[in-house]
This record gives sequence, C-alpha cells and structure tokens, in this order.
Amino acid sequence: MLNLSHVRSVLSDCYDLAPSTEVAEATSDIYARMERVVTPPDWAIYAPYVKAINALKKERNAVILGHNYMTPEIFHGVSDYVGDSLQIAMKAQEVDAEVIVQAGVHFMAETTKILCPEKTVLMPDMEAGCSLAESITADGIDEMRAKYPGAPVVTYVNTTAEVKAASDICCTSSNALQIVNAMESDTVIMTPDQFLAQNVANQSHKNVVYWPGSCIVHEQYTAKDLQDFREWNPGTRLIAHPECPPDVVAEADFSGSTSGIIKYVTDEKPQKAMLITECSMASNIADELPEVDFVGPCNMCPYMKKISLEKILWVLHTGENEVLVDPDVGTKARASVQAMIDMSRKLGL
Ligand code: SF4
Repeated sequence: MLNLSHVRSVLSDCYDLAPSTEVAEATSDIYARMERVVTPPDWAIYAPYVKAINALKKERNAVILGHNYMTPEIFHGVSDYVGDSLQIAMKAQEVDAEVIVQAGVHFMAETTKILCPEKTVLMPDMEAGCSLAESITADGIDEMRAKYPGAPVVTYVNTTAEVKAASDICCTSSNALQIVNAMESDTVIMTPDQFLAQNVANQSHKNVVYWPGSCIVHEQYTAKDLQDFREWNPGTRLIAHPECPPDVVAEADFSGSTSGIIKYVTDEKPQKAMLITECSMASNIADELPEVDFVGPCNMCPYMKKISLEKILWVLHTGENEVLVDPDVGTKARASVQAMIDMSRKLGL
C-alpha cells in the first residue's frame, strides 16, 4: 500500500505542486474541456499536477490510457487515449511508447501487459481492483467447463490474466452479444458477470449459461429506482449499462457499453439524460454536450476512484507499481484477448 504522506513529501520536494492560479491560467486550454464540472478553485489545485505529469510523460516516453470512469481532471487533463475497455486494449497495441500508465483498474493494466509484453505497464494504485475480477478464478472456469462439456467460454475482460488464459475468447460490454452469437456451439458459457450474461441471453438465440458474479456499482440500481425517477423527472432519457440487472435494462430507454452510451447521447442529444452507470461518465462528456442536462443519482466505483493525479505522478516519477504477468499465462491470455480483437474487427465493431 502506498504511504501517502511519504509520497507527498517526496513529490513536493521535486515538483512545484502548490495550488496556483498562474498555472491554472496557463493551462486554461486543458481546463476548457471540463469547466462545466470542475470549479476554478479545484482546477487551481489540479493544474500543477497536470503540468508536472504532462512534462514527465515526455521525459519518460510514457502515455496514459484513461478509462471512461476516471475523474475529469485525469480523463481530460493527462490521458493520451481514453475509452472503454475494448478501445483502450486496442489502443495499447498501437502506442509507440516505452511506458504505459493505466488510469483504470488492475485487470485493465494486466490486459495491456498481456497485449504489450515488451512495454513497462504501471498502475497508479495496485489496490484498484474490481468486484467482477475478484468473483472468479481459473478453477471457476474449470467448474463451468465440467458442468457444460464442449461449451465455449466467453469471458468478460473484467477478469485476471489467469481467468482469461483459461477461457476461449474475451468480450467487453460493447461486443458481448456479437461474440456470443458468433460461437459455433448452441450453449455458450459467459463469465463472470451474471447480469451482462442475462442481458445478452435476452437478445441472443444461444443458450447462455453464466457465472454468478456482479459489479458492485451496477448491481445497486433497481427497476423501481428508474420508475420513480421517470415519474419525478418526466422527459429524462434513461440510459443503462448492460452490467445492470435485466429489469433495469428493460426499464431504460437505451442500454450500451460506455462507448455506446457516449455515441447514443452524442447522436440523440436529449434535453435531460440520466446515465445509469458509474458517476464520472456524465462528468466526462458534459462539456462536449452543453445542450444535455445530466441529472440523477450517482454510484461511484471505489476501485476506479483510487486513481488520482498524485498517484499517477508518483508512478511516473519512481517507476513503481509495475504490472507483471507470468509469460505462459500471458501467452494464453493474449490468445483469448486477441481472439476478441480479431473477431471485433472482422465483425466491424
Ligand atoms: S465499475 Fe464495476 S466492473 Fe467497473 S471496475 Fe468498478 S467494480 Fe469493476
């Protein structure tokens, strides 16, 4: 675990990180991407970190991959590439950098390392896990294979390298349905998200059987929440991530992955929208869509929120928290992730 008082003391000796209106003004072009959701006093605090990180990235030949659930100062301030799990995984293969800092959770950093074994992959906080990734081990995959002999295993990317290595192909929430439908077998095993699997099953002709994992953010929403919200806020477009339970997805106006949600809101531009997913999604797209009023409750992912500008600066400064994957496991896991990427490209996703 990081000793934050030590981190702060070392960083403040090496960088000028005091809140600064001068640095805030000098970085106003970056701030313009988030001024609807970040206040000027907060930007005066973030700006010195953003300036230090962006300079250090050049020195270290590093890039930062930022997931859609990062807070705006990370998403807009220091990330070189942003997106959902699939977009980030595909981008990781293309980047021409020696070091990749994963602004996301641990399984995403492992996926990057699996796809780019020659690169140094750093995690700002090794404790940024995921309830889905923690819900299953490679033994769980063996158990499902024993129960459904011959059925292919389609595993969500929100899993450890060992679980990916034990699977036939990976999927993300943006391509899960198409990948399940493309399997030759009538019965398909999906792990570890029971709700994503049930939502896929509702749209697929396959017999989808699944592992009982769930996301602690999306499982909290109920259909009653959505019904109440619709009654209290008529005209609001309700948009749910497919990690939500099926009755929540059924109650929503649209369901899609984080990139699917962004596309939907960008295309439709509803007057009011409630994103039934992690909090930061709405914040990160609010400035690009000033005509949309993002309203409603907010569930935060405690794992994603472990990532901060301070921790990003620390790993860039020290090179600590390198993510390593056993080479044999990595080779097998890469085959599952690559199978997903190849199929996504083939299907034009
Ligand atoms: S939002 Fe859910 S699926 Fe995503 S990292 Fe957090 S716990 Fe895992």
